[in-house]
Amino acid sequence: MNILLINPPNCGRSIPEERYGITSIKQIFRGEPLALETLAGNLPGHEVRIVDLKARPDGLDEALRRFTPDLIGFTAVTCEANWVRSQAPRLQAECDATLVVGGIHASNDPEFFNAPGIDYVVLGLGKQSLRELVEAIETSADTTSIPGVAHTNPGRPLRWRPRAYSRVDLVEERPPRYDLVAGERDRYTLAALGVPLGFVSSAFGCPYDCSFCCIAGLTDSRYLSASIATVIRDIQLLSDVPVIRLVDANTFGHPEHARALCRAIVGAGIDKTFLADVRADTVVRHPELLREWREAGLRSVVIGFEELSDQGLDALNKSASAAANLEAIAILHQLGINIVGDFIVSPDYVEADFARLAAYVAEQRIGLPIYTVLTPLPGTALHRQLRSRIVNHDLDYYTLANAVLPTRLDEGEFYRQFAALYQAGHKEVKL
Ligand code: SF4
Repeated sequence: MNILLINPPNCGRSIPEERYGITSIKQIFRGEPLALETLAGNLPGHEVRIVDLKARPDGLDEALRRFTPDLIGFTAVTCEANWVRSQAPRLQAECDATLVVGGIHASNDPEFFNAPGIDYVVLGLGKQSLRELVEAIETSADTTSIPGVAHTNPGRPLRWRPRAYSRVDLVEERPPRYDLVAGERDRYTLAALGVPLGFVSSAFGCPYDCSFCCIAGLTDSRYLSASIATVIRDIQLLSDVPVIRLVDANTFGHPEHARALCRAIVGAGIDKTFLADVRADTVVRHPELLREWREAGLRSVVIGFEELSDQGLDALNKSASAAANLEAIAILHQLGINIVGDFIVSPDYVEADFARLAAYVAEQRIGLPIYTVLTPLPGTALHRQLRSRIVNHDLDYYTLANAVLPTRLDEGEFYRQFAALYQAGHKEVKL
């Protein structure tokens, strides 16, 4: 079968830009389409291509001139969902292909894709589900009972058998098809430094239940670690790439496994720089683990601090504390590990809240602060909690850089204060 996997373009829209001419806070997603490379890896015997419209925005027509797909697969985060739904009917008609959608939005809000032009929605980790679907289509077998795959039926509720996600779904014997985007490799760089960057997964899902987070939908809240041999193999496949981003939502969720992986990296003689996500409480509980990783090449960590107060953290069900956040920052500074800090700005922020956040980032010397606006993504607990207050339901704006809830400040002033956060505070990225 000819299979074309499509990574949507950067199609999110920006209220601050459209209404107030503020261009500095538009969200741009970069990096290789690892989810599609991973899906492609488990489709042996098929002719698979990936078109990455983030790297090459006009690449779709060219891809379709050279390749006639029997099946087209899209991945999409929430702000890309409208684009996928708008493209599907045209592509289905033009190519006479089966249209499949998966990814984060499909996993959390599958009903959204129960729409004309889309044949199937793949929920959660799709590596094995898509393979089973392709085999069923090819052999004209029943496609309605594959766990984690929903056959669309617009106008009627979507139905599917849930998948009990386990290590089997990782299908570890087959690596990502990094080769399918080899032509785009020079575009996958660390934005701040222009250094080539490769993506590797070492863990999937997260056992925590933060109300704003959409990760749980990928594995039904299970946390699955890839085997050490798998991670080492994938890192080694990216032999020419000096910086590896471990794209897991929570890389150190099983500390003993993370320690064994670190030692295996050293043992394999791998000399690379690593970036990974870690929770603050993990840093506090396991500083020696972070020290070992520092020696193995970990130079920066992404930490979701989210809020400055215990009350704010509790409201997001973060299972964290403001004191632990501060302690983690101190440990990481001591270890010489750069901090990329995620902070969530509530639409209820007034000037004093913005000032407090800017002061915290400066005082704590957060190397690279990343600010997002609190966004109730469909399918999350936060969405269920705040649904009645949402004033903007257009998913194009669900980029995490727009307020889809009413702002307490005048809206223009809110975005000016939000943009100013990026001008203030400490900014330092080293590798
Ligand atoms: S925000 Fe982080 S810790 Fe919370 S559920 Fe998501 S991945 Fe897990």
